[in-house]
Amino acid sequence: MTGTVRLTLAEADTLVHAALTAHGISEDQARAITDTVVMTERDGCPSHGMFRVPGYILSALRGRTTPGAVPVVYDLAPGVVRVDAANGYSPLALKVGRKPLAEKARKQGIAAMGIVNAYHFAALWPEVEALAAEGLVAFAFVMGQADVAPSGGIKPLFGTNPMAFAWPRREGPPVVFDQSSAARSRGDIMLHERDGKPIPLGVAIDKHGDPTTDPTAGLAGAQLPFGGYKGGNLALMVELLAGALAGGLFSYESSAVQPEEWGPSIGSEFMIAIDPARCGGGSAEAVLDHGEALFAQVLDQEGTRLPAQRRAVARAKSKAEGVEIPQLLHDRIAALARGDTALEEAG
Ligand code: NDP
Repeated sequence: MTGTVRLTLAEADTLVHAALTAHGISEDQARAITDTVVMTERDGCPSHGMFRVPGYILSALRGRTTPGAVPVVYDLAPGVVRVDAANGYSPLALKVGRKPLAEKARKQGIAAMGIVNAYHFAALWPEVEALAAEGLVAFAFVMGQADVAPSGGIKPLFGTNPMAFAWPRREGPPVVFDQSSAARSRGDIMLHERDGKPIPLGVAIDKHGDPTTDPTAGLAGAQLPFGGYKGGNLALMVELLAGALAGGLFSYESSAVQPEEWGPSIGSEFMIAIDPARCGGGSAEAVLDHGEALFAQVLDQEGTRLPAQRRAVARAKSKAEGVEIPQLLHDRIAALARGDTALEEAG
């Protein structure tokens, strides 16, 4: 492949961290963002990896976010914690909230966490995988910006509303899925528009509500949930959990505050952690072993795999060989690390 640069994980870390801190993002915020961005690139999820660095920086430079924000943790109830990200980025809020959430889950059997006033610009699997690595079952839900019409409607209302689930294993990495409730990501439709390619039917409707394969018409109209009303109902659930229950914003409320379509947007997240040792399987080991029996049944069928297996393969490869990113992206982040502020097209 031409036009790419290969970096070791340590080089990627140094580059991203230097770019973030060169633009006033505090050490704590930059460390948490860097960890998230590099692990996402490492696991073969480039759409939420180093590609996002210019957007993080632009949001700080334009005064959208508070680059030195210090998240505040509130103990709301024996099983509930709240983190006010104070207009900063989600990775640090998630990092400071993880320990109290895990402690409450172990003590109570189950615990929840709402994160508010936060800019989430990443995949969700890092936050649930971290809890599962500690032996907890975990869920995460994030609202977005109003891009997706409710099933049967024609006006954007819901976000692309991802949800993630992680199940710990006694050996090996957790089983994790992390998926949006829209038929396709907005970024993917934008890439089709850039490349002059049609989008499949069922991904978006035009502003009159008619099905379209024209990405430009779809972006001007509304995206559709995956699986018709079933995906629409999941998107509704994510809005209620991450918006209302967390005490944050619905996607349409976020869009009203920040209608611009670049960079991270203000929002909120809801997480649940469950200790299998405190549930009905007799012991954590018994619960997890029962899970293994199901996984074995799944994998017994040809053509199957468990979610997170692709990432595990990508992770092992990146650890051995480093990551390969587009030359243009590398040069842009390197320029940012030197203090350059030319940040048009921040994504
Ligand atoms: P994908 O459709 O790419 O993948 C969804 C999940 O399905 C992954 O966990 C994947 O595991 C798993 N999977 C894929 N193929 C199989 C298979 N054959 N068998 C079993 N499991 C499989 O995800 P989306 O496009 O919906 O979302 C992409 C990312 O975008 C997510 O990380 C999401 O969090 C992020 N996002 C973030 C937003 C935000 O506001 N922060 C908004 C919207 C999306 P594997 O990883 O192993 O392939």
